[in-house]
Amino acid sequence: MTLTYDGKTYTDIVPVPRIVACCPECGGSLLVQVSEWESDTGTPTEFGVEVDCDRDDTCEDDPKFPHRWGHGEWQSTVASVRAWGAKWIRCDGGKQ
Ligand SMILES: [Zn+2]
Repeated sequence: MTLTYDGKTYTDIVPVPRIVACCPECGGSLLVQVSEWESDTGTPTEFGVEVDCDRDDTCEDDPKFPHRWGHGEWQSTVASVRAWGAKWIRCDGGKQ
């Protein structure tokens, strides 16, 4: 499926601008995948926006990896990214 953000088209994964949010564990850039969206508007649903860290699983020798993904640590970041995704990302993947 195709994701559109800021006039650009992405396949499956959209990088999150650092001004929106960055990783609370390592400060890295975040990525978004959309698993669920409104079929008529292409708007991601609140829980259809999945947040991932660009660096997690890639720096195994570093004590910050793999990430703990603690709810308290990530809650506000995930909320910000979901709100951003619902506002700016549009999905075009036909039926799920
Ligand atoms: Zn990270």
